[in-house]
Amino acid sequence: MPRGTAERDPAVATNHPIADEVKFTTCYMCACRCGIKVHLKDGGIRYIEGNQNHPVNHGVLCAKGSAGIMQHSSPARLRKPLKRVGERGRGEFREIEWEEALGTAADWLGAIRARDPKQLAFFTGRAQSQALTGWGAQHFGTPNYAAHGGFCSVNMAAAGLYTIGGSFWEFGEPDWERTKYFLLFGVAEDHDSNPIKIGLGKLKGRGAKVVSINPIRTGYSAIADEWIGIRPGTDGLLVLSLIHELLRAGKIDADYLVRYTNAPWLVIDDEGAADHGLCARGTGGQPLIWDRRRERVVSGNDPEALPTLRGPRTLSDGRRAVPAFELLARRCLEPRYAPDAVAAETGISATTIKRLAAELAHVAFEEAIVLDQPWTDCHGRHHARMIGRPVAMHAMRGISAHANGFHTCRALHLLQMLLGAVDTPGSFRYEPPFPRLIPPSGKPAGPVGPNTPLLGPPLGFPQGPEDLLIDEAGKAMRIDKAFSWEAPLAAHGLLHLVIANACKGDPYPIDTLFLYMANMSWNSAMNTARTMRMLCERDAATTDYRIPRIIYSDAFYSEMVAYSDLVLPDTTYLERYDCISLLDRPISDADAAADAIRRPVVKPDRDVRPFQDVLIDLGARLKLPGFVTADGSPKYPGLYPDYIVNHERKPGIGPLAGWRGANGGQAGAGAVNPSQLERYIENQCFWRGEIPPEGRYYKFANRTYLEWSQAMGFRDHAEPVVLQLYSEVLQKFRLAARGHGRVQPPAMHRDRVAKYFDPLPYWYAPFESESAGYPLHAITQRPMAMYHSWGSQNAWLRQIHGENLLHIHRGRAEELGIADGDWVTVTSPHGRINVRAKLMDGVNRDTLWTWNAIGKRAGAWNLAPSAHETTRGFLLNHLISELLPAREGGYRYANADPVTGQAAWYDLRVKIEKAPAPPARAEPVFAALEAPPLAARPSVLRYGAKFRPPRPRA
Ligand code: SF4
Repeated sequence: MPRGTAERDPAVATNHPIADEVKFTTCYMCACRCGIKVHLKDGGIRYIEGNQNHPVNHGVLCAKGSAGIMQHSSPARLRKPLKRVGERGRGEFREIEWEEALGTAADWLGAIRARDPKQLAFFTGRAQSQALTGWGAQHFGTPNYAAHGGFCSVNMAAAGLYTIGGSFWEFGEPDWERTKYFLLFGVAEDHDSNPIKIGLGKLKGRGAKVVSINPIRTGYSAIADEWIGIRPGTDGLLVLSLIHELLRAGKIDADYLVRYTNAPWLVIDDEGAADHGLCARGTGGQPLIWDRRRERVVSGNDPEALPTLRGPRTLSDGRRAVPAFELLARRCLEPRYAPDAVAAETGISATTIKRLAAELAHVAFEEAIVLDQPWTDCHGRHHARMIGRPVAMHAMRGISAHANGFHTCRALHLLQMLLGAVDTPGSFRYEPPFPRLIPPSGKPAGPVGPNTPLLGPPLGFPQGPEDLLIDEAGKAMRIDKAFSWEAPLAAHGLLHLVIANACKGDPYPIDTLFLYMANMSWNSAMNTARTMRMLCERDAATTDYRIPRIIYSDAFYSEMVAYSDLVLPDTTYLERYDCISLLDRPISDADAAADAIRRPVVKPDRDVRPFQDVLIDLGARLKLPGFVTADGSPKYPGLYPDYIVNHERKPGIGPLAGWRGANGGQAGAGAVNPSQLERYIENQCFWRGEIPPEGRYYKFANRTYLEWSQAMGFRDHAEPVVLQLYSEVLQKFRLAARGHGRVQPPAMHRDRVAKYFDPLPYWYAPFESESAGYPLHAITQRPMAMYHSWGSQNAWLRQIHGENLLHIHRGRAEELGIADGDWVTVTSPHGRINVRAKLMDGVNRDTLWTWNAIGKRAGAWNLAPSAHETTRGFLLNHLISELLPAREGGYRYANADPVTGQAAWYDLRVKIEKAPAPPARAEPVFAALEAPPLAARPSVLRYGAKFRPPRPRA
């Protein structure tokens, strides 16, 4: 029968209406926040479609997004609040009413707040309401708050914010329409997922070159024009070598550097002095530069100056100083960064490195883009055109999750700056509200006292040692030791250390650990088995748990639920309001500011409540300032939707920027609009406000952009942002470690701070490299069809990745006598797993890898005992330690970047051998968890059957 002429199944009624109603909302199957249209039929969700009008995805929907139906109907969904009845960690609960649950939580939290608010550690996982949760922690009075960023990509975020006032993903994007050369580093499939796919499509369609630098050729690397299988943890070495080559060849954009960066700022050269390495400044605090025309030192803010980038200078007081650029050039031209010197360590030949540098230079300078778009700079000078360097880059966790990640990420931004490829046509472009001032304003706030809010948000950006949260003895004030000498620039906190520190009582014991959406006893834990033990550990004297109380909120029966004393069941994302706010994690693009909401498209069929509602309810019960009115009644009786509309962070600035003002006529800043949510719903649940055309590039110095973003309420002043090639903030910490200033590190931390707080990027080997006898790297990749542990319980997505295998380079496996499908034993200094091997070619020879977060613990997620996720799936987490080996004196630092505290997941070193006897299942095996009452688990899934029209009678 010819194709297309098959007899149609009468049950497939192509003209049958598929939906009674379509509701717009925002996807939450990963972090990208695409717009979706949910088709509803007979009160159920028929199918989910991408919203063609949405600024994030333009109609594109990925496998995860369409599988939101199965997330919403998952048999793993919690059904009612739970109180633990058995031993912690077994999963034995009694169902309770909400009043009991909230009353219990309020009693526990109220007592802590009256005694010592910092005894509450409140941490969230991949939540999208950090503007609310952080504000809640601040008003409770605990500094012990953070979200998941410390174990995700804080190196990328912090290095970016301290260097260019922004970074990738939510901070900016490649100029997809004009880029000619795109350099992609590391795993990035889960951050900016659909936008990158759309962008890559545009690049490929135009014939732009895509180069992927990643130890593993999957995902985006698989469609790159060139894949470079770098050795994990050496990206910084490659980037510094590229800079070495560009400097050697003189292929840098000197005009860009002197106009927009601190390259010409004079840095005091007086070794041993208290101001050595600081920037020379005038009486008003302005940086000083050397003017070639006037042959003297002038203000760096003088637009008439002709700055020099080279040569030592003498200041008016006789001190010597050197332009920051010269220091950078000296550093990067060191022989250790020459391509020949780095080839062995990176696994990339010198020839390839030289060619990459030449290609970057060629595209940036020989294929420059000129836009006939006039613009005005911050000094009022008019420019007839915009000149662009069409080289763009993107990176996320792959280069970030290493102990050297901060300097690697900073090096990458320096490479962009040297090419003049930050916010110019064809390069990386900021998204509003970025760029921020450098360093960003807002310092972390420490504890104040009983029943007292913090003086500011718990997270922030230290500008020097005096901003650390430490006591007189230099001891950390936070339970995770963020903003202490161990992790001074820990802008996202250190979720990965909370349980270990709380269990040890270091720096102090806590009373309650309150987690939201953070699967800390399983795939979010480094050292999984030890974490499970610590959660159950008891004090020998009192026999109480060392972490006395654990409150947890999640929509699903994840592994963490079993370790909780009180469980507050959340809704799915299709059953609640949410706010994707410019105060939080924006969805702007390079041409516009944007935000969005989620709205309930169906009602919950269980006794569950949105966590945001619960938090606001608890805040009112605790009578936290901000949550109650002057007479003590709830300020937001309508809970989260009420808060979204009526909360003001400062006058005129609220969670949503669209349709502000009494009648909805204002954008950005404006009075509360009682109809704001209705206006969002009318507009398909998003708002987008465009930047004027003349303000769309050079945003750090573009008067139109700076004034527009001030008018929108994104910044207090329209002052320019100077990109920081040389970091004076880092030098301040280094000086403290060398004995200068009022706040200095204790003796035990001095050498470490002095070493890693280098004002210029450099490369050092990740700390785990010191593990002798473990020759291979082991890392994870994010499957494009999964997001954390959410996806690996989803009935449809499980059919794509039902299990994970350990991938090994074919040649390496043959050397080790390992064949496809063999069981292998993988051993690290901290643990051992037995898993099945899969051979492949597209992987660095020294690297093993697997998909992230597929393995599940038996009993969790309402999966069948025979589910492949539990019998064959596994985690590399069992092999990773949250602490480094003991140093001299026995102290153990975090397995993290010493600057930001970012968890160094990707530094793992292992050895591998064929398992002597194939085990029956992947190991280690943990006892199966009991489960609270959950929905019946269908043995055969027939979700669509209920929507089928009746079959016509024969
Ligand atoms: S990329 Fe993420 S937010 Fe977008 S449709 Fe896929 S899962 Fe949803």
